Amino acid sequence: MNPKRVGVLGATGMVGQRILAMLDNHPWFTVTALAASENSAGKKYREAASWQLDQPMPAWLGDMTVTGSKPDLDCDFVLSALDANVAGEIEPAFAAAGYPVISNAKNFRMEEDVPLVIPEVNPDHLDVIARQRQNRGWRKGYIVTNPNCSTVGLVMALKPLHDMFRVSKVFVTTMQALSGAGYPGVASLDILDNVVPFIKGEEEKIQVETLKLLGGFDGAQYQPAEINVSAHCNRVQVRDGHLECVSVELERQAEPDEIIAAWRGFRPAIADKKLPSVPTPAIIYREEENRPQPRRDRDAGAGMAVTVGRLRRDPILHYKFVVLSHNTVRGAAGAAIANAELLAAKNLL
Ligand code: NAP
Repeated sequence: MNPKRVGVLGATGMVGQRILAMLDNHPWFTVTALAASENSAGKKYREAASWQLDQPMPAWLGDMTVTGSKPDLDCDFVLSALDANVAGEIEPAFAAAGYPVISNAKNFRMEEDVPLVIPEVNPDHLDVIARQRQNRGWRKGYIVTNPNCSTVGLVMALKPLHDMFRVSKVFVTTMQALSGAGYPGVASLDILDNVVPFIKGEEEKIQVETLKLLGGFDGAQYQPAEINVSAHCNRVQVRDGHLECVSVELERQAEPDEIIAAWRGFRPAIADKKLPSVPTPAIIYREEENRPQPRRDRDAGAGMAVTVGRLRRDPILHYKFVVLSHNTVRGAAGAAIANAELLAAKNLL
């Protein structure tokens, strides 16, 4: 396959930086355009972006010029890490101009003709693209979205359980990393020596996105999964990695070893496509009594694996466990790149 040329919208932000770092030496994609706000337009990337990653900025990136976010970029498709306040206008403008838009932003996730996709969970939902183009009069372009960062890890852990035992109730409490709030994010005086028990819109996103992701799609319409989901979301002073304590009720009885076998044996339907950013295994179950932990487990599978642990019986629902995923990799940049890889594998880019 000839490398596809990718433009990155929101290239200067936290997620934009992760996307660019993950695209360094990508086997299928080459970065040809960088876009952000008018404040960054015209600047070299090294001047426009406050580089936040531990790994150095790729050598080819610093001298590239950032442009404004007008739909005239020299690329085959765009990955969007735009602020949600502007994604609602900019992303459809790109789609209308013929660009496939693969977005991290929340704006279009729940629209009935927009796929909300995790490649290992619901790749068939991409089939709605034809209807989206028809509905919106877009000939070539379209929008595909990935979930909120705290939803990805949860849904990955639930997917094998839902397939095998049908999940009927989920109660989840998150401890979410600072990088999830973008840069500069939460003020240090708000978060040092503290936990903030509120993240605007986050609980609602987990509660609705989970149902779309685990729900059915009959080729025309989504049927939300019949699961009651209740979420509590907290911001904690961890740099990267969202930790979630989850309790579940299952429709079919299961023994603990069957649940662990479901996670360990999970083989996604897209496994044969060998998408470069999708790890094997996608779900890791750890036996230690005190894992997963953000600092120790967030980089599993180059940040794309989801780590589960501490499975025990729950006296209120049936089982409880802990799940961890890297919020800016698996929960954002890597989620969008994996979606782009799936679209490329299906000849949709
Ligand atoms: P961020 O660090 O605040 O970056 C926002 C980006 O949007 C910057 O590149 C910024 O460019 C650009 N932007 C702002 N105003 C603009 C405008 N008027 N026109 C064009 N570009 C504009 O945010 P982030 O954390 O990377 O998040 C990006 C998106 O991903 C958001 O929609 C967020 O909700 C979503 N998301 C984030 C995470 C996470 O873990 N951080 C996870 C999942 C989803 P300038 O630098 O030029 O201002």
